[in-house]
Amino acid sequence: MPAYKAPVEDVLFLLNDVFAIERYNNLPGFGDATPDVVEAIVAEGAKLCEDLFAPLNRVGDQEGCTRRTDGTVTTPTGFKEAYRAYVEAGWMGLSAPPEYGGQGLPTTLNTVMQEFVSSSNLALGMYPGLTQGAIAALVVHGTEEQKRTYLPKMVEGAWTGTMNLTEPHCGTDLGLIRTKAVPNGDGSYAITGTKIFISAGEHDMAENIVHLVLARIEGAPQGTKGITLFVVPKVLVGPDGALGERNGVSCGSIEHKMGIHGNATCVMNYDGAQGWIVGQENRGLNAMFVMMNEARLAVGVQGLALSEVAYQNAVTYAKERLQGRALTGPKAPDKPADPIIVHPDVRRTLLSIKAFNEAGRALLLWTSLKSDVAHRSGDEKERQSADDHMGLMTPIVKGVLTDRGFDNAVKAQQMFGGHGYIEESGMSQFVRDARIPMIYEGANGIQAMDLVGRKLGKDGGRAVMTFFNEVGAFCEENAGDEALKGYVAPLKEGLSQLQQATLWFMNNALAKPDNAGAGAYDYMHLFGLVAMGYMWAKIARAATDKKKLGNGVGERMDAKLLTGRFYMERMLPETGTLFTRIQAGSDAAMSIPVEMF
Ligand SMILES: Cc1cc2nc3c(=O)[nH]c(=O)nc-3n(C[C@H](O)[C@H](O)[C@H](O)COP(=O)(O)OP(=O)(O)OC[C@H]3O[C@@H](n4cnc5c(N)ncnc54)[C@H](O)[C@@H]3O)c2cc1C
Repeated sequence: MPAYKAPVEDVLFLLNDVFAIERYNNLPGFGDATPDVVEAIVAEGAKLCEDLFAPLNRVGDQEGCTRRTDGTVTTPTGFKEAYRAYVEAGWMGLSAPPEYGGQGLPTTLNTVMQEFVSSSNLALGMYPGLTQGAIAALVVHGTEEQKRTYLPKMVEGAWTGTMNLTEPHCGTDLGLIRTKAVPNGDGSYAITGTKIFISAGEHDMAENIVHLVLARIEGAPQGTKGITLFVVPKVLVGPDGALGERNGVSCGSIEHKMGIHGNATCVMNYDGAQGWIVGQENRGLNAMFVMMNEARLAVGVQGLALSEVAYQNAVTYAKERLQGRALTGPKAPDKPADPIIVHPDVRRTLLSIKAFNEAGRALLLWTSLKSDVAHRSGDEKERQSADDHMGLMTPIVKGVLTDRGFDNAVKAQQMFGGHGYIEESGMSQFVRDARIPMIYEGANGIQAMDLVGRKLGKDGGRAVMTFFNEVGAFCEENAGDEALKGYVAPLKEGLSQLQQATLWFMNNALAKPDNAGAGAYDYMHLFGLVAMGYMWAKIARAATDKKKLGNGVGERMDAKLLTGRFYMERMLPETGTLFTRIQAGSDAAMSIPVEMF
């Protein structure tokens, strides 16, 4: 059975040494997050995931969810109890506002916990994960009454949340939504329609489910400008907050799918269900974007999380499995063969996952800290700059971390040879589970289009210029440091290619949009490589400084520096290929007639 150990040391190194979390002490919630508190929270979260969530991962995969004839859904054995333990320990409200019962701690700590949860049991973690997204949307766009009615129960974990966008004929293009809303004359609306693929749409973990639903009010304009967001509880809530009658929403069926079997993916039928507008009429996408952006980052976390757990198991196996001899002569002469970790190709595989995981985690924590600044800083300029960063990085985190997360799960499975293909190894589940984050929350091709089509040019390119300036300044400042030469020079080269690719789009995509569409995916990955290269350079800076202080951390810091060197020498140079592909433009892709496919 696969094992999982939460990367506590790495998280603390990133928070304390690379990003100096104490610098943010002036932000609300950070004052309470002293180094001791952070360490205790991270250790406690690790324990819950290792001891309770991870052992249920396989159970969830094998049992899946069951829909009964009365429309109720039963989750796998142990899920309900594990969820209860999670909410009773206060994890749901870790960074939620204190006025609704949350602890108000940094979102960054929640991101850390999301990683541990998703590594140990992705399917189980999605139930609270979606609830946290729904909480965020209601905090920003809910009326005071809606906040009072729903948030305390959701923060407590007694009620969970969902997001209902997708319909049978409408996925990426939400302008096609048909679910309709008719005014009831009392301020509420009757919602009718079918939503599909709704994660956690029905289950047995909570006494109520708060659905956030996109629908079109009768007579509203066609397209995305006629969509409104509604809150539709599974069980109606009385004025005193007590649960009343069942609302007209039910689970028609659940999907049988490739992975995340423990999460109920539901067809939800709305049959005149009572719902209330969240935010403004016809501005539903705007309101839903709060939840979607939260969810996109959380899905990026899922990509990293599966890469991490798959890696851990691959390393254990590679140290134990005896096959062949090292090219340079036996390394375990007392044994019939050497462990496969002696082979350069096995090391290449493992290191490419490790180097991604550590930089990916850094990128996530850096972005989460910006999210905290964007939501909590009293300084408008600071908030705006952090918000720019979030907008720019969201498609990169979602698209790159989930693409690579899946690739890495496959690579880790490869380390097991044929045994990885056998279900018992557990590696197959990681591969199957890692496939969905590339698709939901906007398929990755759409993330790339969002980056190139919307984010690059936004506010005159302010966000991307800030990123270029920051990385450029880091390279300048550290150019003279001999210890960092192997990190700074390749980063500078990667940055230059990213800048040239950006310029190429400016010169070649405005008049010919297909050039943007055809190169967007490569650009997203080029950006991701450089962003993670920057993370490695920052890690190398911190590791070099920490090594000088001694304290017995030398070996751990050497491991960082060597892994970072692998990234710089073997992974970052992929930017060259991506840049070449971008410059090829769209002609080859677009000139072939449809009938020739
Ligand atoms: C397990 C699971 C859980 C899910 N959970 C939820 C949930 O909780 N709530 C919810 O609302 N939805 C959920 N979804 C739905 C999911 O978000 C959609 O499947 C996804 O957004 C893609 O929509 P689609 O399947 O209709 O694909 P389509 O929109 O039909 O797209 C098909 C392909 O075409 C590409 N494509 C489409 N348009 C363009 C374009 N303009 N440019 C370039 N490429 C394009 C896409 O990238 C994709 O690769 C879930 C799906 C699954 C499988």
